[in-house]
Amino acid sequence: MAGAAAASAAGIMAGRPRLVVATRSLHKLRELVELFHLEHGVLLSLDDLGIAGEPVEDGATFEANARIKARFAAEATGLPSLADDSGIEVDALGGGPGVHTRRYAGPDATDASNNAKLLAALSGLPPERRGARYVCVLALALPEARAPRGGARLILRRGTSRGRIGTAPRGDAGFGYDPIFEPAVEPPGGRTLGQYATSEKHAISHRARAARRMTAVLRDLGF
Ligand code: IMP
Repeated sequence: MAGAAAASAAGIMAGRPRLVVATRSLHKLRELVELFHLEHGVLLSLDDLGIAGEPVEDGATFEANARIKARFAAEATGLPSLADDSGIEVDALGGGPGVHTRRYAGPDATDASNNAKLLAALSGLPPERRGARYVCVLALALPEARAPRGGARLILRRGTSRGRIGTAPRGDAGFGYDPIFEPAVEPPGGRTLGQYATSEKHAISHRARAARRMTAVLRDLGF
């Protein structure tokens, strides 16, 4: 993470509490760094700390997977660690792809193949049947020494953001499903998140809502 690395190089993080952002997704990392305005704490990525490997994300819920990732990072680093598990729930798919969002189009899915598969699944449906929501669960794992009664303590915060799936990709901002996600404030056929400025996305996004809730927790913990 360029910002964190620069802060480290300048030596300005000495004495400041360190918090690990447990994600390998550069998009998520960038958004989380933009969203967390900590008074004292310094955010570091797993790469900043030279931590390799990935936990197996086999949970049935966003909460379970966020826990798995946060605990992995806290155990690997010995530092408080924050993980993001997120995805999209589409009404017409009974809440799918849900926890399978990242690999919706298969093990080697790309954003483009995921978007194409979702557009095909909803082909021909009118706007009122294209409803969806983004979900983001943030998990904060506090390693043993920081937990009041011993053992890794975990705190979860959730944010959601409703919208609908458009009929074709538009815009190249954001990532993932953003080019086909029309926020609820838009009329059918209106702008997608892929056409939103970063600040506009942060005003309404699932991740921003979860981050706001988690910021309150982090402030109480002295970060
Ligand atoms: P995870 O790494 O299992 O949490 O996968 C989350 C997936 O959900 C990402 O790979 C994206 O496809 C999608 N996703 C999560 N948040 C966003 C977002 O803010 N915009 C677009 N897609 C998102």
